[in-house]
Amino acid sequence: MRTNIYQQLFDDQMDQYLEVGKTTYKERVTKLRRLKNALEFDYKQPLREALFSDFGKPFLETDLTEIYPILAEIKHIERNLRDWMRPKKVGNPLPMIGSRSYIEYESKGVCLILSPWNFPVNLTFDPLVSAIAAGNCCIVKPSEFTPATSQVMAEIVSALFDPSEIALVQGEVETAKALLELPFHHIFFTGSPAVGKQIMKAASSHLSSVTLELGGKSPAFVDETASMETTAKRLAWGKCLNAGQICVAPDYVLVTEKAKGALVEALKNQLESFFPQGASNSESYSRIIHTAHHRRLQDLVNNAVTRGARIVYGGGNTEEKHFFEPTLIEQVPEDADLLQEEIFGPVLPIVTVKDADAAVDFINRKPRPLALYTFSKNKTAIRKLSTNTRAGTACINHNVVHLSNNHLPFGGINNSGIGKAHGHHGFLAFSNERATVRQYTPSSIDLLMPPYSDLKQRMVDATLRWFK
Ligand code: NAD
Repeated sequence: MRTNIYQQLFDDQMDQYLEVGKTTYKERVTKLRRLKNALEFDYKQPLREALFSDFGKPFLETDLTEIYPILAEIKHIERNLRDWMRPKKVGNPLPMIGSRSYIEYESKGVCLILSPWNFPVNLTFDPLVSAIAAGNCCIVKPSEFTPATSQVMAEIVSALFDPSEIALVQGEVETAKALLELPFHHIFFTGSPAVGKQIMKAASSHLSSVTLELGGKSPAFVDETASMETTAKRLAWGKCLNAGQICVAPDYVLVTEKAKGALVEALKNQLESFFPQGASNSESYSRIIHTAHHRRLQDLVNNAVTRGARIVYGGGNTEEKHFFEPTLIEQVPEDADLLQEEIFGPVLPIVTVKDADAAVDFINRKPRPLALYTFSKNKTAIRKLSTNTRAGTACINHNVVHLSNNHLPFGGINNSGIGKAHGHHGFLAFSNERATVRQYTPSSIDLLMPPYSDLKQRMVDATLRWFK
């Protein structure tokens, strides 16, 4: 029965997509401005309250990480979309004389967006904004783990859009699976690498194109030349924001022997100053999304401790309240789950390495990360970390902030993702770059068509000689 509803929605959008694809810059920007107003004014407070009820997210963090990025993205699109939509002229080789070549940016058509729970507003509306900018129809399914937020987002979408153009459906994993049976023109998925593989498999049956924004373990390297106080402040912030439930949170730290003592002390001091009454009493600290994820974090830490790891800060947690204290842990064996699986919580393993080369080896033993952070003033170390590894994104002497620059592409590589999002890259993800040649005069190729003759052969030979 449900499947029929999705099929109907999909069919309605299929009837519309060519018309929607013809919309002008002005029409697309008008839609985006309506969304911008809804987020900035009418629905800001309902969204703050919904996120607080879903996982205790502080209002300030909602403003900073859920609402502001979408407003900034829309502003960036308003400024640039006219130029992005314009066909781009490209060069023409000599044999194609008398023609013009250009790239047209056409909408992909009917798209599916599947989003995760950790930044439910941002990661649902950011791809949607790109899809609208590129002139698409869309069905959106947010995560089942943020029901209050999904409800507000459903109200926003139904207030602003006709479902034959943009629709938001709520539901469990089964809903996502039912939607994946439909032959979407593009699927934009944000979530875990494990589910990403299933999305790609489902997409392959219709050869739907995909953007996969995935996760994984994002390392931070720190050496003794870094400013310890600033490094600790930034790393502690990156790990505590959203209680570490961020795809680009620093997952673990690789620190040189010379820097380790100073870094651990500076991190402890920083955590004390972020949460002077303790994180459990702080209104500046989120909760873990649900019990299963809380238990997973407990198991990761317990397993590491059983295998000889040492908690040097924090470790406290209360399952009923979904509270998990910021935790620093060292001497974790490399094959412990804590150093194998993406942590996605406020636990920071600190691993001692000899130098930048050893850090590079450590990173290259694992799947390619979504983000790589280097904290150092040593140019050679910085260069080694950049050129001897592969990662989707990077920061030098900071972390997480690169997400907020719409001029930069955002996305992983292989295990951490396929394709890029944000700004122009998001527009391109939802566009087909149609390569077009327009012939104005008789074409030189017309002279070389069958029946072939000696004269035509000599013309081909002359052309090939010319290209040598
Ligand atoms: P998830 O992969 O479990 O779920 C994401 C979405 O997929 C949800 O809407 C869910 O309903 C759906 N889904 C789950 N199982 C499915 C299945 N078998 N078939 C079809 N759909 C299914 O991810 P999550 O737990 O919500 O989020 C955490 C993960 O997301 C982490 O790995 C994190 O790194 C990653 N993430 C990546 C980014 C990024 O931009 N690269 C951003 C945020 C989160």
